[in-house]
Amino acid sequence: MDYDVVVVGTGIAGTCAALAAHEQGARVLVLDKVGRDRAGGSTRLSAGGFRAPTEGYTADDQYDDVMRVTGGRADKAITRYVADNALSGIRWLETMGMEWVDSAKAGRPGLTGRRVQPWRSKPVPIELDGKKQLGFGNGAIQMLHKTLLERVDVRFNSRVQQLRFDDQRRACGVQVFSADEGKVEDVSAGAVVLACGGWQANVAWRVRYFGPAASEWVVRGSRYSTGEGVQMALDAGAAPAGQWGGPHTPIVDARSAPFECGETNVNQYHYTIMLNNLGQRFVDEGADFGDRTIIRYGRSVLAQPGGVAYLIYDSQVAHLIGGNTAEFEAITAGSLEELCGALGLSFADAQPTIRAYNAAVQDGSFDANTLDGKHTSGLQLPKSNWAMTIDRPPFYGYKVTGGLTFGFGGIRVDIGSRVIDTEDRVIGGLYAAGEMVGGLFYDAYPGGSSLTYGTVMGRSAGANAADFAKQALLVATS
Ligand SMILES: Cc1cc2nc3c(=O)[nH]c(=O)nc-3n(C[C@H](O)[C@H](O)[C@H](O)COP(=O)(O)OP(=O)(O)OC[C@H]3O[C@@H](n4cnc5c(N)ncnc54)[C@H](O)[C@@H]3O)c2cc1C
Repeated sequence: MDYDVVVVGTGIAGTCAALAAHEQGARVLVLDKVGRDRAGGSTRLSAGGFRAPTEGYTADDQYDDVMRVTGGRADKAITRYVADNALSGIRWLETMGMEWVDSAKAGRPGLTGRRVQPWRSKPVPIELDGKKQLGFGNGAIQMLHKTLLERVDVRFNSRVQQLRFDDQRRACGVQVFSADEGKVEDVSAGAVVLACGGWQANVAWRVRYFGPAASEWVVRGSRYSTGEGVQMALDAGAAPAGQWGGPHTPIVDARSAPFECGETNVNQYHYTIMLNNLGQRFVDEGADFGDRTIIRYGRSVLAQPGGVAYLIYDSQVAHLIGGNTAEFEAITAGSLEELCGALGLSFADAQPTIRAYNAAVQDGSFDANTLDGKHTSGLQLPKSNWAMTIDRPPFYGYKVTGGLTFGFGGIRVDIGSRVIDTEDRVIGGLYAAGEMVGGLFYDAYPGGSSLTYGTVMGRSAGANAADFAKQALLVATS
């Protein structure tokens, strides 16, 4: 065997799998299809928020939050396992070089201390295609890759294009195309961990699973998440799992780059009103805090004509609103007519809606930090909290759309991250973790969950793969 464990992918899941396998004494090779400067997948572009228990937030709370947000459909055993192991995962990451910043003090607009993501990786800002990104996820990748490169063999520009199996259908290696050497080679191993990210950047799959309009969607994460890992696992008999028609689409600035825009979401629309291209409201913007409705409402925005909407607000709440981005500012104007013109929204369509809304706003005291109950009355579609008239210049607006983080469909694994086939059998020696696993989230996930799942399940995938490889070697040599 060339290696005990081969890990495919250098995002959070692959990095954790490789470091955990190495801790078990395994000889580890990590392969990534891109160069070192692009490695780290969507993890590198992420906001670096990890959900884990903290003071006043227990593992049970975390489990309950996932179950609540997913309507009880998330895999219960895995949800329990992750909730119980999230904090030890955080501590383990620290031993691998991870440092944290205080979310509340991170200078990231839109983050309130209320959110249960105290674990945010220390940022290393990046500029991608001329656009600045805050670099929280990039910080995580830089810190963890430093340790990774010191401890195990890593080959970049190495695309895994096929899995290898022995005559008992146990994974025994991979076929790799090395772009640097321009050649295809086989690497043998005692076990393989797939951590190739999702399929959100595969336009054909987007259209297949989300519908024709999805070809035009903004993709927030890595342009390299094209589903090869999922496909290789399916080809090997893995069971598809989870919500294949379910996209994670927060509301993002419509000026976002079509790929790898990173953190351009606008979370604080609950203080605004949101109009579609016809000048009509279409959701109760103030039903809850934006970070609790953003995925559902992102889908609503995508369902509007042209897949876009406009946030409209005035000077009374302007200090509360900002894109979570280093890149975009709100559009500002001295009058609503001017604002609509600058946003590309018909004032003739928008004006009656804004007028009716203003007339429906009830007295009450506005409190940005609680569900304040300051509401509208008499509208067919109410605004239940934070209803402020929009009549004090200057006026502000954002044109927004839904941006795809990833899709919830993937392959099935058990709590040991072992890949399960369509007949409910374990595929020996094959492990998977991260976005390519399905059945973990439905409709949405509590913010900060995906990085934690990648950590906890990636870690277990690596440790279990190392054990499997060790056992296989013992059997072979006895
Ligand atoms: C803008 C943005 C913000 C986010 N913020 C957060 C947040 O704050 N908290 C949170 O929990 N989640 C967040 N997420 C989601 C989270 O970042 C991702 O779900 C998670 O990082 C995915 O990790 P992964 O290891 O599964 O995949 P990735 O990080 O995408 O890594 C996959 C790797 O596999 C490689 N690869 C793919 N195919 C092959 C192949 N055939 N051969 C070799 N290599 C291959 C890729 O090049 C890539 O390096 C965010 C996502 C985005 C886009």
